[in-house]
Amino acid sequence: MAIRANPKLIEELEPYGAEDVMKCYHCGNCSAVCPFSADPYVFPRKPMRYLQMGLEDKLKGQLDPWLCYYCGECSDQCPREAEPGETMMSLRRWLTSKYDWTGISRLFYRSWRWELGAIVLVAILTAIGFTLFGMSQGSIAHYDGPDAFLPSASIHIFDWVLAGVLLTFLLSNAARMWWFTMGRDKDLPTTLGSYITSAWMLPAHFFTQVRYSKCEHKRSWATHLALMLSYVTMLVLIMFFLTRMASGPEIDWSVHVAGYFATAGLLLGTALFLRNRVKRSSAQYRHSHESDWIFLVLILIVATTGILQHILHRSGLDVAANVAYIVHLSLVVPMLALEVPFSKWSHLAYRPLAMYLAQVRATALARARSGEATALRPGAERTQAHAA
Ligand code: SF4
Ligand code: SF4
Repeated sequence: MAIRANPKLIEELEPYGAEDVMKCYHCGNCSAVCPFSADPYVFPRKPMRYLQMGLEDKLKGQLDPWLCYYCGECSDQCPREAEPGETMMSLRRWLTSKYDWTGISRLFYRSWRWELGAIVLVAILTAIGFTLFGMSQGSIAHYDGPDAFLPSASIHIFDWVLAGVLLTFLLSNAARMWWFTMGRDKDLPTTLGSYITSAWMLPAHFFTQVRYSKCEHKRSWATHLALMLSYVTMLVLIMFFLTRMASGPEIDWSVHVAGYFATAGLLLGTALFLRNRVKRSSAQYRHSHESDWIFLVLILIVATTGILQHILHRSGLDVAANVAYIVHLSLVVPMLALEVPFSKWSHLAYRPLAMYLAQVRATALARARSGEATALRPGAERTQAHAA
């Protein structure tokens, strides 16, 4: 099959953050220092080459960008300052937009105005919707009880509907990722067995990000993991324990203590990442895409309004607590509905999935190679004929 090249591919990658790809002269230093580059996934030099050659289709089928944790060591060692680490990051954004069939990721990553505009629009609609809902069936003077402005039972149903919608988008996009990287490669001898035996990698990489810990800067891994686990803890609390979380004004330590830890993790993790980005403290923070800022600022505002609403409710200031709750919800909804399936949070799903698929793919390639080796061995045909 003829390979089609896209001469404008580097240009197309620029809005996603790729800047200095053409500076690369393929010395290979980057792949040599990368702690994760190993056969059959040799990067970042190979993706740099594909980009320069405009091999769009080949890049779309690559898992390599997801195997990079952006430790920045390759960028530090590049003699041409071609920023291979940032190129891998921009490829992850570009791939996210390719997996997304709705085209929303593409809009968001190519224009911060679209992303911010969509967040503001969804926030306003959410605020109006919850205000009208509250006024129709409760009193703003009551945070909980039978006359509550926003009863937790109703919010709980809303949360589950929202989760169902965003999971549908995320899973359908993940299915496209599988198709681009594995499914359409008819020559890849994958087996159902290798998909099953490697399945443990999905939760293992999701909950530990163990691969990241192999990078030189362990603090980045710890901060990244703390932020992710805090977010997941908060999500579990909201999805399964919302009624107890919203009850009060007394503190229910059995659930609130987990909420306090998660909030502290979110605030601390976000503050550290923001500081690093402002100070451009190392290679991975030298370049910040607009989506990086939006992501961090949104988490910070959501966490702050959540704390405010909690304090006001515990202080018995129900009117103020309800207002803070509406503001909080109006930011939570765009964060979940827009950022999880279409922007940076989607990496939470794609990265462990890539680790898993990379393992399945490597097993299949090893099997194919051993089959070739057997076929090339003198007398192999005769041995196989005897065995048959
Ligand atoms: S170190 Fe720089 S110049 Fe060398 S292959 Fe990597 S990106 Fe290209
Ligand atoms: S940023 Fe780190 S993990 Fe990513 S390609 Fe460069 S050296 Fe490898």
